[in-house]
Amino acid sequence: MVPPTNDRAGASVLLFSEAMGLSKFDLGGKGAGLAEMTRIGMPVPPGLTILTRVCREYYANGGRLPNGLEDEVRAKLGEVEKAIGRTFGDPSDPLLLSVRSGAPFSMPGMMDTILNLGLNDESVKVLGEQTNDLRFAYDNYRRFIQMFSKVVLKLEAEKFEELILLEKQKRGVELDVDLDKEAMRNLVEGFKNFVKRETGEDFPQDPWVQMSMAIRAVFDSWMNERAKEYRRIYKISEELGTGVNIQVMVFGNRAGISGTGVAFTRNPSTGDKKLFGEFLMNAQGEDIVAGVRTPRQIDDLKNEAPKLYNQLLEIATTLENHYRDMQDIEFTIDNGTLHMLQTRTGKRTAPAAVKMAVEMKKEGLIDRDEALKRVEPQHLDLLLHKHIDPTKKIDHIAQGLPASPGAVSGKAVFDVAEATMLGNKGEKVILVRLETNPEDIHGMVASEGVLTSRGGMTCHAAVVARGMGKPAIVGCEALKIDQEKQTFSVKEVVVSKGDLITVDGTTGRVILGEVPTIEPELGPELKVLLGWADDVKKLAVRANADTPEGARRARSFGAEGIGLCRTERMFNLKDRLPIVQEMILADSEEERRRALDKLLPMQRDDFKAIFKAMDGLPVTIRMLDLPLHEFLPRHEELIAEVTTARLVGKDPEELRKKERVLKRVEQLVEHNPMLGHRGCRLAVKYPEIYEMQTRAIFEAAAELKKENCVVKPELMIPLLSDARELSFHRKNMEKIADAVLKEAGVEINYLIGTMIETPRAALTATKVAEFADFFSFGSNDLTQTTFAYSRDDAEAKFMPLYVDKGLLLANPFEILDREGVGKLILMAVESGRSVKSGLKIGICGEHGGDPGSIEFFHHAGLDYVSCSPFRIPIARLAAAQIAIGTEKASSTA
Ligand code: PEP
Ligand code: MG
Repeated sequence: MVPPTNDRAGASVLLFSEAMGLSKFDLGGKGAGLAEMTRIGMPVPPGLTILTRVCREYYANGGRLPNGLEDEVRAKLGEVEKAIGRTFGDPSDPLLLSVRSGAPFSMPGMMDTILNLGLNDESVKVLGEQTNDLRFAYDNYRRFIQMFSKVVLKLEAEKFEELILLEKQKRGVELDVDLDKEAMRNLVEGFKNFVKRETGEDFPQDPWVQMSMAIRAVFDSWMNERAKEYRRIYKISEELGTGVNIQVMVFGNRAGISGTGVAFTRNPSTGDKKLFGEFLMNAQGEDIVAGVRTPRQIDDLKNEAPKLYNQLLEIATTLENHYRDMQDIEFTIDNGTLHMLQTRTGKRTAPAAVKMAVEMKKEGLIDRDEALKRVEPQHLDLLLHKHIDPTKKIDHIAQGLPASPGAVSGKAVFDVAEATMLGNKGEKVILVRLETNPEDIHGMVASEGVLTSRGGMTCHAAVVARGMGKPAIVGCEALKIDQEKQTFSVKEVVVSKGDLITVDGTTGRVILGEVPTIEPELGPELKVLLGWADDVKKLAVRANADTPEGARRARSFGAEGIGLCRTERMFNLKDRLPIVQEMILADSEEERRRALDKLLPMQRDDFKAIFKAMDGLPVTIRMLDLPLHEFLPRHEELIAEVTTARLVGKDPEELRKKERVLKRVEQLVEHNPMLGHRGCRLAVKYPEIYEMQTRAIFEAAAELKKENCVVKPELMIPLLSDARELSFHRKNMEKIADAVLKEAGVEINYLIGTMIETPRAALTATKVAEFADFFSFGSNDLTQTTFAYSRDDAEAKFMPLYVDKGLLLANPFEILDREGVGKLILMAVESGRSVKSGLKIGICGEHGGDPGSIEFFHHAGLDYVSCSPFRIPIARLAAAQIAIGTEKASSTA
């Protein structure tokens, strides 16, 4: 054991035994693990770490190693040499080293490693003599030349594999392990000749030249393309740099009981508390990864070397108890002695993360708050939808945006009416469209899943599918849809109407045929974890739900009420649409009221079922928001139909009807419907619509109250831009509500509030609050109107470009824009509460289910977030993590 020194200030290189206490940011993850394992007495081969700071200096110096680094490495290595009594570069007793990268965050396989450093034409012979095993010595030398040539000299790795293959063919053997010492010696010669041919120079023989080239190569690998890409995906800063770990080699390929392996202290896929892993006898680390030989299950080691297995088990337990988390470890057995080469916190699947967190808390290893921090909220998504078994290898034909998780199979159907018809008959169909719009809703309801070739993560299809918990893939541009022929093609693959396909909304994969799936459930451990979450979180979590099934599901996932019940979906149902159209086509108020009278009982039943499902919990019902022409056929389609009907000249009655609809559509159609005659503006012109809805709500509430159901209605006005609009509607609605309740002879407390989803509503929140019992931020529209982006157009046309060019850091429809939209929210919260101190405030846009945005809402002092039922567990956990102080990095600008 090398004795620790205390003088660390200013050092660029530290022994494992003196680096304890430094963080992974100084040492890199691997270096920190090695230092800590050394400190707690694990059998770690001695070595040293070049700090990550040196990597930063290397790049700041334009790719030059800092002055004095080699001296420092020599000095530190000198201490190791003294302790073990051998010297690097001594030809009479060669000391071999490994040189490995190690960044602060694990980047598996992204950067480079070199083993057996120090071997040359002389020392290989001595190693052979010392070990009495020439094959072993030449095997190490050929491995070294191979790795060094690839990593440092940047020669093509395949060439070396070809030479190995030739050697095996020549000798009639199949596996590397079957190559004898002569074969290994031949390979060494062949490799060296190849290096000379390619580089014009001999393979470097001086161990210290090898060392400085290897250090430089590890630093260079920080900036290789795959490492850069990995950092980009996982948002790891380029600034961090990598450490370099130089360690005395141990040999898993030596004669005797030797081998190498990787293990997890618990099963990373199920979470079971049992050592899990693989090993290979007579092998070095890269043999496991290379997949040439199939590794054996770690349990087999029990039979192969029971003592070593028990020692490994003991070490695994010590490490897990020490780090209080599941560890991913690497070990090597060198002639009967076990050595530990790495420990780090192991990556795990979502179910495993939940199980481990709950069990470790129960075992007393961690406390409740720590258990809550152990699970990534977004990962819960995977647990709540049917999904494809991740252990199965599946080929896909195209990849789109994973808009709504879960996997389903069904027949491809291209027409909404047909999807509705087949779906209602009980057939499993996947609706395939260029994009969807609100009219397609019944097709979506009747389908198992949705696939579109256009749109972004918050386009109509994505939002609606998520709300319904239906798997969806959107923006799958590789799909060429031929609506006429009812086919889509991806390169040469053609899928026709009726062909079976699977959409995997979790990953965005489109797969031919049917793929078996696994059922979702809120398992017992997740229930426990979310129960803890509820104990600590400050924000209430409500659901966006507009059907009784949605409400029931939301409740089973832990919703504390409904924060947004969109009523337009109720207007869009198959049996309602003709009546809604009758209402829209009406020539007089009287006619309109007659149609609304027909809708009234239907709406009343809708509300009754939802209130019942939410017995005892608040239900926020949003009055109709959609522009009326959305409920009529499309303008272009009507023109075509009328033209055809005129040409054919048959049924004049039919033609007259169509012309009437066309005329009305022409009156209603708008240049910019998003900013047009929608929201509460609709009911200024047609107050009878909100009157009918208010009546339906209170008749339902009154009936239920008589059945001892506790109903808490909260009526919400959409798209407000001025307090006077709220005052106008409030007066009308109160009149009806009070009249209905009086007539029924019941008392029910209710609230009337408003959405804040235009900048003007936010800017004038002081006035708005005077008439509002609550605010609910409609962050979808507030984002659209603040940025002046139409959501679907922005996502389809320029958003990816903006994100790509760094003009936006993220899509503001997915992650709240704190700088702009957030500022309006903060302002409105402050203004609103300056008028009414206890004003209830929530958020019901898509951001209500995004963990990063939830953090913002927590700090903004909101009372609740509302999101789709399937995101409720995510929101509960995210709200808890924020309450116990786990910050989420999230911003769009
Ligand atoms: C919103 O705008 O955030 C909202 C919830 O309303 P919708 O998405 O229905 O317009
Ligand atoms: Mg809105």
